[in-house]
Amino acid sequence: MLEGRPVADQIKREVSREVAALHDQHGFKPCLAAVLVGEDDASAVYVRNKIRTCAEVGLLSEQFNRPATTTTEELLALLRDLNSNEDIDGILVQLPLPGQIDEPRIIEAIAPEKDVDGFHPINVGLLAMGRPRFVPCTPAGIIELLDRNQIKIEGAGACIIGRSQIVGKPLGSLLLQRSATVTICHSRTRDLPGVARQADILVAAIGRPALIGSAYIKPGATVIDVGVNKLSDAAKARELFGDEAAKRIEAISTKGYTLVGDVHPAEADSVAARRTPVPGGVGLLTVAMLMRNTVKAAKLRRGL
Ligand code: NAP
Repeated sequence: MLEGRPVADQIKREVSREVAALHDQHGFKPCLAAVLVGEDDASAVYVRNKIRTCAEVGLLSEQFNRPATTTTEELLALLRDLNSNEDIDGILVQLPLPGQIDEPRIIEAIAPEKDVDGFHPINVGLLAMGRPRFVPCTPAGIIELLDRNQIKIEGAGACIIGRSQIVGKPLGSLLLQRSATVTICHSRTRDLPGVARQADILVAAIGRPALIGSAYIKPGATVIDVGVNKLSDAAKARELFGDEAAKRIEAISTKGYTLVGDVHPAEADSVAARRTPVPGGVGLLTVAMLMRNTVKAAKLRRGL
């Protein structure tokens, strides 16, 4: 199992040391502003985790909650304030935003030098050109997970299923820059299992519970499961989770659901060499990388 926690903890320790050094040598602590619009439960949990992790590594943070009825103009006004606020180093707008808000306009309104999610077109362009500044946190975390587990990227066949702006596309750029041979698949890919089965490193970032079964996986492959899906069917949990089924069914009866990735865990474990668990895999890395990007933003802004 490729656990996210040891690598995430290691990165957080490194960030902590850097924050302490910045404070000792330059007398400041970087600060992250997190903007949460609306009442989506999952988004609230993600923001809470990010704020809590800031405290854990010694970063300052400020949370800005806005109601679900917020307009694009109101959110743009908040971003103007945050962009010009000298005390704020990184700005995170939790996505997705409510439907009435023009999401691309919001992303483009974040000052590129405070764009710690790496979604602004300038940062996307720099990454595509091979000059990464702020790299989106989930793909950056996946690279750290591979590197710190000594999984060779150079020359490997890498298949990414999913072409989103936040995971699939930036991860494709990063793996290509590290000299993997990259294939990016999506909903129109022909013979997806056949294409995926060629890969030494298979990344599933789809949002379809347990879609990726043994037919998609090359024997001995490394499987990175980015998907986060809620599962509330106990019979399905029994089929998916093998030895872990009892624990998962217990979670369904107490919480109403358990989390499952895009990869069928029991089938993957019969073919793959390694797999990231859900939860406990990529998600932990995402938050750790956000902390690292915030420190980077603070240093870049001050020319350090
Ligand atoms: P997204 O924007 O929802 O896009 C999904 C991608 O999967 C699209 O490219 C889509 O193809 C492709 N796809 C959908 N159904 C498919 C199918 N049956 N066969 C092949 N490809 C298919 O994706 P996302 O935002 O990257 O999120 C993907 C998953 O990762 C979600 O479960 C999300 O919650 C999770 N996630 C987790 C983290 C983390 O930190 N752990 C971070 C981000 C996202 P088309 O482009 O052709 O429509």
